[in-house]
Amino acid sequence: MVKTWDQLNELQPTVLKMLKNSLLKKRVAHAYLLEGIRGTGKKEIALLITKALFCDSLLEGYKPCESCNNCRRINSGNHPDVHKVEPDGLSIKKQQIQDLQEEFSKKGVESLRKVYMISDADKMSVSAANSLLKFLEEPSSQTTAFLLSEQPQQLLPTILSRCQILSFKPLSPQAMIQQLTENGVNPMNAPLLAQLTNSMDEAYELNGDDWFAQAQKIVVKLYEVLKRGPLEAMVTLQGDWFSHFKEKEQINRGLDLLLLIFKDLLYIQLDKQEQIVFKAESDRLRQYALETSGRRLSDQMSAILEAKRKLSANMNPQLMMEELVLNLQEGSSFV
Ligand SMILES: [Zn+2]
Repeated sequence: MVKTWDQLNELQPTVLKMLKNSLLKKRVAHAYLLEGIRGTGKKEIALLITKALFCDSLLEGYKPCESCNNCRRINSGNHPDVHKVEPDGLSIKKQQIQDLQEEFSKKGVESLRKVYMISDADKMSVSAANSLLKFLEEPSSQTTAFLLSEQPQQLLPTILSRCQILSFKPLSPQAMIQQLTENGVNPMNAPLLAQLTNSMDEAYELNGDDWFAQAQKIVVKLYEVLKRGPLEAMVTLQGDWFSHFKEKEQINRGLDLLLLIFKDLLYIQLDKQEQIVFKAESDRLRQYALETSGRRLSDQMSAILEAKRKLSANMNPQLMMEELVLNLQEGSSFV
């Protein structure tokens, strides 16, 4: 789906402000490096600026119109003076860069302007990177390069030094939720994923992960048995919990999920239901929120944070969880 300037500006306002100034002052760089984690809008913004460079009727002097012949051809990937290079298998090979150079030694098909875009630029082989370097050293005034990378530290310093670097920030939870749902993630799951990570990659991974789906159920179950009494809580802990959350990283994930349940309960009490992340459990949570107090919830959240701290300080996970379950219980029958 093609995004407009205004939509992308919500994702990456700093990057677009800079590019807007360059466009307005007609001082577009010869080469840009767009760096940031997956899903932050690098490709979309490279396309957007490419359109701004070719557009026949720019709006306000910098926004591509999205409807002229040039904009439409760039959107559909059919512009003769816009070239894209992507890894061929695991790497970008020297031949691919040479083909690009060959293409660029010809005059622009329709104008003098030419743009090329290299995705996953850090995957260039050493010889490909060296070829590109020669290319970057002899910039033609009408050529613009967009190098895209999630791992810019793997690029040659000599390449980095020839690019203007644009750093893409991780998305806000709100922007992440939108991106995730646009890309097929169930809207019921997206808010929880956006709370747990700011990496789109990790969010997609968790979304398809059976372990994670099961983890959520066990955490909800632990919360429910906590309300029933210490014995049942310990049984669930020794059974379901420890057979699922084994590694330290997994236990930490479990604690994050547990924390989010208490946060949800607090949001319900504060009448901020739109902030709930356990959407699928919201009916049950609304009921539970009636049975506790805000004070109690914030004590419980502190106890979970303390448990996370102990876990990272290498306390025995078994002891840490038993202690936590007792702390979460204490006084829980009082409102
Ligand atoms: Zn246009």
